[in-house]
Amino acid sequence: MAFDRPLAPYTSYRVGGPADALVNATSTAMLAAVLRICARAELPWFMLGSGSNLLVGDGGLRGIVFRLGGEYSAVTWCDDEPRGDMVRAEVGASASLAPFCGKAAGRGCVGIASLAGIPGSIGGALRMNAGTDRELGEFVESVLVQTPHRPDPHPVSLQYFYRHTSLARDAVVAKVRLRFECGDPGAVRADLQRRLKRRKDTQPIQWPNAGSVFRNPPGDKAGRLIEEAGCKGWRCGGAEVSPQHANFIVNLGGASAADVATLMARVRRRVHERFDVDLLLEQHVVGVFD
Ligand SMILES: Cc1cc2nc3c(=O)[nH]c(=O)nc-3n(C[C@H](O)[C@H](O)[C@H](O)COP(=O)(O)OP(=O)(O)OC[C@H]3O[C@@H](n4cnc5c(N)ncnc54)[C@H](O)[C@@H]3O)c2cc1C
Repeated sequence: MAFDRPLAPYTSYRVGGPADALVNATSTAMLAAVLRICARAELPWFMLGSGSNLLVGDGGLRGIVFRLGGEYSAVTWCDDEPRGDMVRAEVGASASLAPFCGKAAGRGCVGIASLAGIPGSIGGALRMNAGTDRELGEFVESVLVQTPHRPDPHPVSLQYFYRHTSLARDAVVAKVRLRFECGDPGAVRADLQRRLKRRKDTQPIQWPNAGSVFRNPPGDKAGRLIEEAGCKGWRCGGAEVSPQHANFIVNLGGASAADVATLMARVRRRVHERFDVDLLLEQHVVGVFD
């Protein structure tokens, strides 16, 4: 356990103040023990994945911040099943999505290319129902979670929506079982590479960012609205509405969480004034802001 640990290095925006305590949980037993303590002592806690969809306030996060590792990073391909037209994998919550996608493509998992290039952990991707034209939830067969009041891993049944799920706020995803139709590995790999290239060409990945800031409103694109509202290139401190992709805010160096949050609020106000559309945040904003 580390005390007063700055969270900026753990977020893709590279901003965010300290966690009172940062705990690396490497086994389900260890997480269960600390969750029990949190429940008994009524301690606040927060589950940090890879921090690729998070804006953490400059004042940091109170209580315990968990990161998962060790046994949570295991990926098991269920090759012992009779060979058929499906491929299954059990994936620990801290496993990284990107290398998993590469391996899944090599096994011909149809649909995995839709998740290509999305940074983050499987646990975070499950919480967010991450995806593009297809989303992680489509491939989920079962999910094991741990909670302060039921700390040992147990199954839950979930509903999946656009960039969120019915997962309870106090549930930590421990493991996810995924199922894919089995297709031609060459074709799946080619689709994955094509999508990775498109991301490189269209997203400002040379700067720290956390992907799309706002969800797309029904039938429209947040990026189009922000661009047409004239917000591209707006700056606040070290943060900028990307001139390359209007729905990205980037950290040009030295941005604070307050800079990013201020830009978010300005963009939202301008889009509302111009189009009478209320943009909803896709990114999770957590912790203490002045
Ligand atoms: C360049 C870039 C491109 C992106 N493109 C896409 C895209 O195309 N599609 C898309 O959907 N997203 C995209 N994202 C956003 C982000 O990568 C996803 O939302 C990702 O799934 C978040 O995972 P994470 O592990 O980083 O979660 P974090 O950012 O750490 O956390 C996100 C939320 O999930 C919760 N969480 C994390 N782990 C767990 C767990 N084990 N159990 C319970 N809750 C948990 C956190 O508490 C938090 O509320 C992009 C981000 C970047 C930086």
